[in-house]
This record gives sequence, structure tokens and C-alpha cells, in this order.
Amino acid sequence: MIAATAAEWTRKDLTAIEELSPSEIGAVFAQADVFKPLLESREKLVSLHGQTLVNLFLEPSTRTRTAFEVSAKRLGADVISISGNASSLVKGETLRDTALNIRALNADMIVMRHSAAGAAAYLARVLDIPVINAGDGAHAHPTQALLDAYTLRERFGVGPGRGIEGRRVTILGDILFSRVARSNIHCLTKLGVRVTLAGPPTLVPGTFAMFPGVRVVHDLNVALEGADAVMLLRIQHERQTTTHFPSLGEYTSMFGLNRERMGLLAPHAIIMHPGPINRGVEVESEIADDPARSVILAQVNNGIAVRMGVLHLCAHRSRRQPEQ
Ligand code: ASP
Repeated sequence: MIAATAAEWTRKDLTAIEELSPSEIGAVFAQADVFKPLLESREKLVSLHGQTLVNLFLEPSTRTRTAFEVSAKRLGADVISISGNASSLVKGETLRDTALNIRALNADMIVMRHSAAGAAAYLARVLDIPVINAGDGAHAHPTQALLDAYTLRERFGVGPGRGIEGRRVTILGDILFSRVARSNIHCLTKLGVRVTLAGPPTLVPGTFAMFPGVRVVHDLNVALEGADAVMLLRIQHERQTTTHFPSLGEYTSMFGLNRERMGLLAPHAIIMHPGPINRGVEVESEIADDPARSVILAQVNNGIAVRMGVLHLCAHRSRRQPEQ
């Protein structure tokens, strides 16, 4: 019932998309394809039976934390969730000590969200159990990028003349402070997608154009013209120490997605958002809710199968040396 792709997967951890090859990304998709049809049955699998997964979330989360919890439970694991203000980190314990203690309590896997870039990669080196990055500062959110690419692949199909290679995806909004944008840039370009980054120059610096396959466009009309998908991003107020545009109203009038601007997209274009949505700011409410165009809730749902895939692969990895 469970695919054999784990035999090809050698990674203990998933901390950033940068480290994955296109075939490893394909292995996650293949594994998610196995799990997705099983979700309907509400049946529990045995992949992680007897294992304990600790969800260590030191920054707020709704979707990602719940999706990891649901995914791990569907795979048969026990799940313990720890949040920042309820852990001994607030009493001065280091992250390393917290993690070593969680390990000593027989945890088999840790999923971690942290405000510091590199925190998950650091723990992955300290611990001998899988560490999955659920977001580290503005750096990376690898499972979000995987579920986004999986959703694009699902919508655009697979096979000759279909698929996501060569498709045009515009990522619009606060690119500078977005870990979702960074992980998507790596993931989508590895899969041959043509990525446009759009938003105000203060939030989308020209330096992002150094990524192969990426263009930076500050004129929204140009950025949206003919795009197959638009990935909207919220302004990451919690990471900004200075203001990057005069007011939210001005941001919306210059860069918000509205009905008129939708007309610039390809006729089949889809609207994506990692959530949480700030309705009326980056997108008009009726667009976010448009059943013909918006795949926002499909992304959330795909997050279960994709995260099941990642957890399964890391737990059942082959012990060969990882690809460099
Ligand atoms: N939920 C995503 C994240 O954790 C996007 C966001 O918060 O805007 O990065």
C-alpha cells in the first residue's frame, strides 16, 4: 500500500528546499500521491506506528502545525505539541538543551518553527532524529513550497504538453521577509517554472533577479500579464522594523489583486496564498473565495498528503550517503 520511494530517499531531515534535487522533490510528490487518495477513508496507517513526533512551535501557526499533527497521526504516530510560551525556553533554557531533553524523552522526530533563520538546520546537526523545518524566520518554509508545487502540478496535470515546467508563476507581495517566497523560488525554479517576483521595490529588491529563472518586476500590470498562477503573500509586519511603503491603503491600490487586474492573467490562471490572508489588503475577498480560480483551501488540504510524504520518507530513509 505504501510506495517504495523511501528506498531512494536518504535524508534524515528536511530543513531547506535548496538541498533537494528535482528527483527528491519528485519522490515527495510520488509519496504524497500514494497518501492523498487514502485520506478520504479516514483510515490510520502504520508507517509511524509506535513513534512520537514533537511539534515544537516557537512562533504562531494555525495551518502548518495542525497539518503536521494531522499528518503524523494519520501515519500512526503519537504527537506532542509544545508552543513557545509554554516551554522552558522562556525560563532561559537554550534551544539545544530543550531539543536534547525532548530527545531524551524518547521523541522520534521533531517538527520545528522558530523565528531565527538556521534554527532547524542547527538542531538537525545536534540531534540524531529527523528534524523538519516548519519555518525559520524569513529563511525557509520547505513543506509550504512543496505543497504549493504539488498543487500547481495537480492543477496543470502531468504528461506531455501539461505539467508545470515552463509555466509562469507570479509571486506578489512582501518577498523580502517571506520564507514562503524563498522556498518557492528554489522549488519552482528547480522544477523549470518561470518565476516573476512582484511588489514594491522596497520589498522586492532587484538582487532577487540573481536566481536563475527569476525576474523581478515592479510594474504590477507587467508582472500579471499572461501568468498561469499568482501566489499572494501577506505583508510580514512582525519581521519589519521600518515601514516599507507609505500606508496599507496605498499598498493595496498599487499591488492588491482585484477583479480588474485579474483580467491580465491567463484565462485558466489560479490564485494561491499560503495563509493567513489579510482580506482587502493583498487580495479582494471575493477573489480569495472564487471557487473557479482560488486554490487556497486545496493548498491547505494538499499540505496533509505532502507532509505525510515528507514524514514517511524521513522516517524510512535509506542509510546510503545523501546526495550533495
Ligand atoms: N504561514 C506562512 C508562514 O508561516 C505565511 C505567512 O505567515 O504569511 O510563513
